[in-house]
Amino acid sequence: MSVQQRVICTICSERYRMTDQILAGTCGHVFHDECLDRWRLESSTCPICRSEESVYFQLYLDFEEPSTSPGQDQSQGQSGSTVDSEYSGIMREYETLLYETGVYREEIEYLNERMEAITLRNSQLSSDSD
Ligand SMILES: [Zn+2]
Ligand SMILES: [Zn+2]
Repeated sequence: MSVQQRVICTICSERYRMTDQILAGTCGHVFHDECLDRWRLESSTCPICRSEESVYFQLYLDFEEPSTSPGQDQSQGQSGSTVDSEYSGIMREYETLLYETGVYREEIEYLNERMEAITLRNSQLSSDSD
């Protein structure tokens, strides 16, 4: 998948990040907490639709960070990519285990059959020796 995060704050034209404080208005427009604060020093209307009644509440977004801005975020560490690779690693391991389970199941069935045969043989032998 090559879906890029292109949701931006209209006030500062920056993309939203997981760590940003994001506010959504009842008019439907979304801005950075700090950008809206700055805006509201000058105007009480929504920067986009000029709605005056809009009430803002904090928005908690859950999205994958695009990994296209190297350098800037390194001090903060922890991008989504480590979780991603960890997840696909787990899935791969799961598939391997699933496959192995199938193999072992066949083997167990085979061993069970052999044990049955041996038990049968054993009981025949012990009855023979009587
Ligand atoms: Zn902003
Ligand atoms: Zn608005």
